[in-house]
Amino acid sequence: MAKRDYYEILDVKRNATQAEIKSAYRKKALQYHPDKNPGDPTAEEKFKEAAEAYEVLGNEQKRARYDQYGHAGVQGDAGGFGGGGMTVEDIFSHFGDIFGGSFGGFSGFSSGRRTRRVNKGSNLRVKVKLSLKDIAAGVEKKIKVTKYVACKVCDGTGAQNGTAFSECPTCHGAGQVTRISNTFLGQMQSTTTCPSCGGEGKSITSKCASCYGEGIIKETEVVKLNIPAGVAEGMQMSVSGKGNAARRGGVNGDLLVVIEEDKHPELIRDGNDLIYYLYLSFPEAALGVPVEIPTVDGKVKIKIEPGTQPGKILRLRGKGLPDINGYGKGDLLVNINVWVPKNLSGEEQQAIGKLRDSSNFTPDPSREDKNFFERMKSYFE
Ligand SMILES: [Zn+2]
Ligand SMILES: [Zn+2]
Repeated sequence: MAKRDYYEILDVKRNATQAEIKSAYRKKALQYHPDKNPGDPTAEEKFKEAAEAYEVLGNEQKRARYDQYGHAGVQGDAGGFGGGGMTVEDIFSHFGDIFGGSFGGFSGFSSGRRTRRVNKGSNLRVKVKLSLKDIAAGVEKKIKVTKYVACKVCDGTGAQNGTAFSECPTCHGAGQVTRISNTFLGQMQSTTTCPSCGGEGKSITSKCASCYGEGIIKETEVVKLNIPAGVAEGMQMSVSGKGNAARRGGVNGDLLVVIEEDKHPELIRDGNDLIYYLYLSFPEAALGVPVEIPTVDGKVKIKIEPGTQPGKILRLRGKGLPDINGYGKGDLLVNINVWVPKNLSGEEQQAIGKLRDSSNFTPDPSREDKNFFERMKSYFE
């Protein structure tokens, strides 16, 4: 079915102001409100249609895109309203402010829909420090986490022996209360979670002495983390269900693990590549030399060719870090520098002075680098 024009849905002119659009939406919402039209699916559809139109026209950026490209310009943009995927409750939680706040805390409609709220424990955040070696191979870490866990004495219920309950006097066991409120939409009936028992339908007659009725106690637990290879500073992993337990039953929160990278004494990380600055003495660079290069797992030997220039980069393929998504490994880039000595003895000065006048010692970059002159030219252009 082709979508209707949003301006037509809200019955406003194309140049309507934001205030006019907002007021038009309120009017439509009033007209098609599900509580005013019980059991009328057409009204509910129109209610949702108006919310979708307002989602777009009520936002200047989305409206501009809609004006220019039509529905295609805001596809997938209307908060999921488009496919009718949004429920009436979603619309209220989304646009609640427009309805004057009288619907705040809405958790269900008088249509009989019952939403039982499930308590969720809070998330916990911990930092884990890893060496480059750990990161290169992936690592299993055991960390101590102090957190709320379910009280074993009362089985997390908060009641003595886990059995000292009676029916909640406020909601008589239903877990929900129905409220009549006056709003600009008229008198509305709304059902909310019972404030006395939090939706449980029962109240504790005698509290568990161990957890003082909370159902949770603080404990230190060892959590095993399997950290994959290739993680980086600041990355966050979420371990589902390893956070704090919820009060009096419910679902545990998550444990959020933030990765910290320990600086390697010699290697610098650049994404999946590693960089090493190698300093050679002038004779080593001129004559060639075998050297040891540190890597994340031990040293490797490489040969420096005679006549190696400073600034040259040797690439040790696959000696970097593995990609976290499994796309191979980075390289280890060896940046070559030549150490120029400063405090020379008279003898040393004489020895080097003898070499100075040899034509082999006259700098001639073009001999090393075939494209030298072209490169220089492009620098100065
Ligand atoms: Zn307890
Ligand atoms: Zn209750």
